[in-house]
Amino acid sequence: MTLKVYSTLTNEKEEFKSIIPNHVGMYVCGPTVYGLPHMGHAKSYVCFDVVRRYFEYLGYKVKYVQNITDVGHLVGDADEGEDKIQKKSRLENLDPMEVAYYYETKYFEAMDKLNVLRPSISVRATGHIIEIIDTIKTLIEKGAAYVTDEGNVYFDITKFKDYGKLSGRKIGEGLSGERIEIAKDKRRNEDFSLWKKADETHLMKWASPWSVGYPGWHIECSVMSKKYLGDTFDIHGGGIDNMFPHHESEIAQSEVANGVKFVNYFMHNNLVTVGGKKMGKSLGNSSALEEVFKKVAPIEVRYYLLLNQYRRPTEFNIEAMLKNGEAYKEMCEVVTKGKEKFGVSDEITSDKVKEHKTMFLDAMDNDFNTALAISYLLKASKELSSELEKGEQDAKLISDYVNFFDKVANPILGLPFELENKTASDSSDDTSLTNQVIEELLTVRSELKKKGEYSLSDEIRNKLNSFGVEVKDSKDGFSFKIVNK
Ligand SMILES: [Zn+2]
Repeated sequence: MTLKVYSTLTNEKEEFKSIIPNHVGMYVCGPTVYGLPHMGHAKSYVCFDVVRRYFEYLGYKVKYVQNITDVGHLVGDADEGEDKIQKKSRLENLDPMEVAYYYETKYFEAMDKLNVLRPSISVRATGHIIEIIDTIKTLIEKGAAYVTDEGNVYFDITKFKDYGKLSGRKIGEGLSGERIEIAKDKRRNEDFSLWKKADETHLMKWASPWSVGYPGWHIECSVMSKKYLGDTFDIHGGGIDNMFPHHESEIAQSEVANGVKFVNYFMHNNLVTVGGKKMGKSLGNSSALEEVFKKVAPIEVRYYLLLNQYRRPTEFNIEAMLKNGEAYKEMCEVVTKGKEKFGVSDEITSDKVKEHKTMFLDAMDNDFNTALAISYLLKASKELSSELEKGEQDAKLISDYVNFFDKVANPILGLPFELENKTASDSSDDTSLTNQVIEELLTVRSELKKKGEYSLSDEIRNKLNSFGVEVKDSKDGFSFKIVNK
């Protein structure tokens, strides 16, 4: 078994070889924090979380760097329009940093719920302005960037001979899609912005040799990946929609500035679609994870996303998520039953389970084919279920099945096969638990009152009151109401 990774640079599945033995350096383009995290984010970061987890399972030490774009991502791709965060802060009358921090928090909260491990390093563009300015200086010195009279700096794509090696685009083909006006001071359409002069109203701006302004979007990823992973690193990941112009521009900047290959493997996850069309915040048809989680438990959303290999699109469909969520829960039930009865074996020795494990790992080795890997889990779960129904049960065999789910599938896919996962409807149980706790406290308070411990009993009432619990005393005891839970 050798791990093969599909690299968009060669459009081939290549055998994976890391630069440093047993270490993997990976950089994944993070979110632009100006809106709530949506299904597109979930797909991308769950997929790369599995990539990271699989390397860790294989014994690699993974350094996973992910950026937070908190400045410089413009509304249009052709260096036109407003900075996305600046626009949001203007609309909501907030400081841009408030906007960025608020949505960054929302992003991580949603990822935690999806069981996505936090990056080894999470880096913000606004924290790297000095390094960005330095890199732009290098590009100007090398003749690959030019400063315009307006105080803007652009990368001259004709100075990078391999331009288009990722996306297959050629100079002169122009930028795709409907674009509004292209910046007037560019030499050619495809040249892209490294530094933009800020106008008076712009809030996030820094002094530079060229103007008081802010960096372009692409440069941050080149600068931060170099800082934490070196000039050349193993894997760069991102959504397929970022391949052009974002990743193409990253390659151009980095390879000119550093004079060496940027990354060895470029991985792109496919998109979440609605009726076959891309879902995304900027297109206005996205579905915020907050809303999705009210209908489908986050862990079931994760399971659903892994039912497609990462290079295939995922159709957004609540019904389908719920239906597949049932299958996942059934697996959890069977595994829990087996575990409760016979525990987890130390090592899989039964031939049947060994074979499932081999097939599962082969699927993962084949460019992280989670779809195929999960099919072996479904098979194993059926077999385990019928083993559990037998009159005479094979303890070792059952604990081997549990091992397969618990020690192989769970660490790799990030899917705990346990029943205690919160489901979307579990919140009602929380309420009943809260009520029980309040009831208990108030009973204790009644006892205190009987003993004349009034200050302590008042303290309990006041504390509860501060949590929004209104307590009413009556002749035959008490009653309470939760007013602002
Ligand atoms: Zn990026």
